[in-house]
Amino acid sequence: MENIEDSEKRPLDFIRQIITDDLQTGKHQKSITRFPPEPNGFLHIGHAKSICLNFGVAEENSGICNLRFDDTNPSKEDVAYVESIQTDVKWLGFDWGAKVLYASNYFHQLFEFAVALIKADKAYVCQLSPGEMREYRGTLTEPGKESPYRNRSVAENLDLFEQMKNGEFEEGTHVLRAKIDMASPNLNMRDPVIYRILKAHHHRTGDTWKIYPMYDYTHCLSDMLEGITHSLCTLEFQDHRPLYDWVLDTLKTPCHPRQIEFARLNLTYTVMSKRKLLQMVEANNVDGWDDPRMLTISGLRRRGYTPASIRNFCRAIGIGKSESRIDMGVLENEIRNDLNVRAERRMCVLDPVKVVIDNYPEGLVEEMVGKNHPQNPDMGERLLPFTKELYIERNDFMENPSRKYHRLGPDREVRLRYGYLIQYASHVKDETTGEITEIHCTYDPETRGGSAPDGRKVKGTIHWVSAEKGFPVTIRLYDRLFNVEDPEADKDVDFLDHLNPDSKVVLSKAIAEPSLALLEPGKTVQFERQGYFCADLVESKTGSPVLNRTVTLRDSWKKK
Ligand code: ATP
Ligand code: MG
Repeated sequence: MENIEDSEKRPLDFIRQIITDDLQTGKHQKSITRFPPEPNGFLHIGHAKSICLNFGVAEENSGICNLRFDDTNPSKEDVAYVESIQTDVKWLGFDWGAKVLYASNYFHQLFEFAVALIKADKAYVCQLSPGEMREYRGTLTEPGKESPYRNRSVAENLDLFEQMKNGEFEEGTHVLRAKIDMASPNLNMRDPVIYRILKAHHHRTGDTWKIYPMYDYTHCLSDMLEGITHSLCTLEFQDHRPLYDWVLDTLKTPCHPRQIEFARLNLTYTVMSKRKLLQMVEANNVDGWDDPRMLTISGLRRRGYTPASIRNFCRAIGIGKSESRIDMGVLENEIRNDLNVRAERRMCVLDPVKVVIDNYPEGLVEEMVGKNHPQNPDMGERLLPFTKELYIERNDFMENPSRKYHRLGPDREVRLRYGYLIQYASHVKDETTGEITEIHCTYDPETRGGSAPDGRKVKGTIHWVSAEKGFPVTIRLYDRLFNVEDPEADKDVDFLDHLNPDSKVVLSKAIAEPSLALLEPGKTVQFERQGYFCADLVESKTGSPVLNRTVTLRDSWKKK
């Protein structure tokens, strides 16, 4: 996990500073944070920022971080989401201790708190229609109007709320509202709804409840019940903080967590909201929530991202209070840096053209030795069979090369990585298509391993695979899902119009070196000169690998 020395050198962000101060002054003995997802979709890279913050704070301060599902909206929730979220948090390397928590665990207590608010004349049952309610609410510049139901007696409110609970009214006819201030400049304080009628089946409480508490009301009380010390959330909740505090103050709860807001993560070349991700899944714009192009945790995992690269990314971007959009290149660089150290090197020809070595003995197979990592001898070596017929990359040969082109061409000599120096002899073209079908070369037997004993200079080094011993692999070249930095910038244009049509290119002719046959699903290698590729977790099998390109070796999107 986090390198302690590293973290000590960095100044604390403003949230960690507040928490450190609270522990030092003795305001709290222990920090308790929580990560509170709604189980209405898969987690994305934005959630990773919140996870790394909440669980990170707990780790750094010997505190606790709860995983709590905010499951108050049964019509949009699903157990499949509950499960995927737990898998993702664990995969990122975090631990929520004894058990998973759910806001629905507190439904009875939340109901009792609502009764207490009614008894204190701080909540009332309102029968305005949703349209009327909007009208009465006022605007940012005009105060709201009080509901005609606002001054019901406590007894009448208790009775009506009980009937709501018992399912005696239709959805949308009655709500319970907090009695705060219809003239408040903050719209959230204009008698917000705290309970609504919803006759929906809940994935945990079944058909027990006909009414469900609203998010704002549920959240502060759940935090309080768990003894949360610091309730960390994104900036859009800043205007909800007075309501968070009002509920706890009015109920005079023994514990009052402090809500602190931070800027959410936005990334270029993607959309982040779960609603839009779900829309793409349902419209089949992508191959499911875990499509390797999706910026979901499960998509990134399938793409070949490591937990460490995501945690490093979250640490690198830091925690602040101003909204910004981080360049996708920053995330891609983190996975490059991580894989550069971890990934074994392999050779694979993505777009093959055949090379015949005219003077190489027919039927001979020589085992060349390739390093698994050029800088790390501990990672070992593997054998690369060398034969008379090989494949090289089609674009590693040019009929009329410029002086700057150092690969193969007429009269050129080139080095085959870990193989021999080969000299061009001739090439064959398909008469009708003009496509080059074969390149003939000769090899210098004195150059085994790739260096010439006479010291002659050969600039170009290219990768290759034996035509006989190599075997076919399926390669999926993934790229960014959108082709503009902010797909949501123009409100008049559908964000889907900016989908990158080349975000997934499937190659069916690629040939890999034999050692690739043993690549386990989920393992990532570097194909020399091509990028990092990960054996797909779902579709790859030992013996018939399907590889996803995790990331190229360089950022090709970078503005020149
Ligand atoms: P979305 O807006 O993508 O639908 P959400 O905020 O509705 O996400 P929740 O399940 O409510 O999703 O989020 C759980 C936690 O993750 C919340 O505390 C939320 O503030 C945080 N979170 C969500 N998106 C981001 C983001 N882009 N950056 C940082 N934190 C985020
Ligand atoms: Mg939300």
